[in-house]
Amino acid sequence: MIAISFSCVWALYVIVSVVIILFLWFFTEFKNRSRVFKIESERLFWQCSICAYTYVDSRHKNLSICPRCGSYNKKES
Ligand SMILES: [Zn+2]
Repeated sequence: MIAISFSCVWALYVIVSVVIILFLWFFTEFKNRSRVFKIESERLFWQCSICAYTYVDSRHKNLSICPRCGSYNKKES
């Protein structure tokens, strides 16, 4: 039989708990961050269909005016 002291079991318990908490934290942080970045990038960045100018418009969601040529751009889907 393997003799294990109480302090060794306690240290193992703390290490396993910290590893589980860190794993869950990184997993949820990565999942939330990738989703937010995808939503923000799809909503804010526009590319003009006439002059191909890429710009940021955070005020309009479906229809935006190109600051370079003044044409209207509509979001796909
Ligand atoms: Zn344009």
